[in-house]
Amino acid sequence: MTTTTTAADRAAGALLGLACGDAAGVPYEFASALYDPHQGPQMIGGGLGPYEPGEWSDDTQMALCIARVAASDVPLDSPEGLDAIAQGFLDWLQRGASDVGTQTRQVLSALHRDDGHPGLAQRMTAVAAELHARSGRTGGNGALMRTAPVALAFPDDPERTARAARSIAELTHADPLAGDSCVLWCEAIRRSVVDAMRGRPEDGLELLPAESREAWAALAEGTWRAGAPASLSPNGFTVTALFAALHAVEQAASADEDGPTATFRAGIAAAVALGDDTDTIAAITGSLLGTWTGAEEIPQEWTDMVHGWPGYDGPGLAAVATMIFRHS
Ligand SMILES: [Mg+2]
Repeated sequence: MTTTTTAADRAAGALLGLACGDAAGVPYEFASALYDPHQGPQMIGGGLGPYEPGEWSDDTQMALCIARVAASDVPLDSPEGLDAIAQGFLDWLQRGASDVGTQTRQVLSALHRDDGHPGLAQRMTAVAAELHARSGRTGGNGALMRTAPVALAFPDDPERTARAARSIAELTHADPLAGDSCVLWCEAIRRSVVDAMRGRPEDGLELLPAESREAWAALAEGTWRAGAPASLSPNGFTVTALFAALHAVEQAASADEDGPTATFRAGIAAAVALGDDTDTIAAITGSLLGTWTGAEEIPQEWTDMVHGWPGYDGPGLAAVATMIFRHS
């Protein structure tokens, strides 16, 4: 890793990396298009949308609902901030959503008449908790995929970052494993941005409750050390998604000798090569890798192409990240 990146460039890398991973993974989601590993991921669009070439999907769209609040004057973790995020999710569902995860749709559609009333976030969290109590299956990757902007909001405060990551996850995903995943991934991003080091999800283990730490150690043993890439697909479960992204990030490091741009590209390629929910795994991967390399080192043909709801492009995303970072 070069040491020439600035904290602002690494923060921009979180959002641009997320968007580029998303748009590079979109064509191959659930094998919509056949992936050719010799060619590497191509931002050709299509996928579930269908999307334009370079267009991002629900992962970046929902992340932007969070990012726009983080860039505003309202503290992200205040009741008003959480209400604004929840309202953003409802607006997105009505006006922006090109595809929607099953669980997210179940929660948001139960609240579609709830526009504009204070306490929305609390009611959304309650609906998500009821869904968990009823089904016991709310550990999808839909909270992890959108969590990156939370990591930029309170760069000097790991505990506050962790609490915010969990609260925002719980708006739609009540399974504690979903919240844990967001805590772990945000801490990796936060440390990369603030400390100019290669943050890793295990850096955040100390931010989890003791019983969760033990559970994740066991999960790492079962899911990751067993480790063949084949065990990392399907990857709709938040735990599998986290380990799939971690696998891709580790593959990226093997391209280091060719420079940071090659590192970023290799990580996204490794994420897409796993198959299944390719855009989400590549988005999660890119959100961390972009902080390792800095936004400047993300392949320019990708940052030039990415765009999507609600009307942002690459430079626009970088500007939002900078604004979040300045507010913090
Ligand atoms: Mg998607």
